[in-house]
Amino acid sequence: MALVFTFPCGGCGRTYSVYYPKSLLYELSGSAPRELGRQEDEDDLRSGAVEAARKRAEESGKIFVDASEQLERVCACGKKLDFNLLHHPRVPQSKELQQRRQTGLIPFPTPTKKP
Ligand SMILES: [Zn+2]
Repeated sequence: MALVFTFPCGGCGRTYSVYYPKSLLYELSGSAPRELGRQEDEDDLRSGAVEAARKRAEESGKIFVDASEQLERVCACGKKLDFNLLHHPRVPQSKELQQRRQTGLIPFPTPTKKP
């Protein structure tokens, strides 16, 4: 199951669908060794889940981004976008980082519940 969050650009309203490979999430959050996520990522790739997510995003006019390739990106409107989940207030972490930062992004929606 590919994990994808949607980020609207605060500058122009373009919508980004950002895919987070598990190995990247584990590395960012430090919750598990990166290696643990590799198998899950490979499964997602092989099953076509990543490709399906990309298609879905593009068909609905969103810009698909692989966070393992681009954690930051400058929108076509010139606004700098930060896709690092740790910079967003809904990810539990240290107090200092919980304070809302100027990232130019609206906080991402709560992910749908896992089955
Ligand atoms: Zn923009």
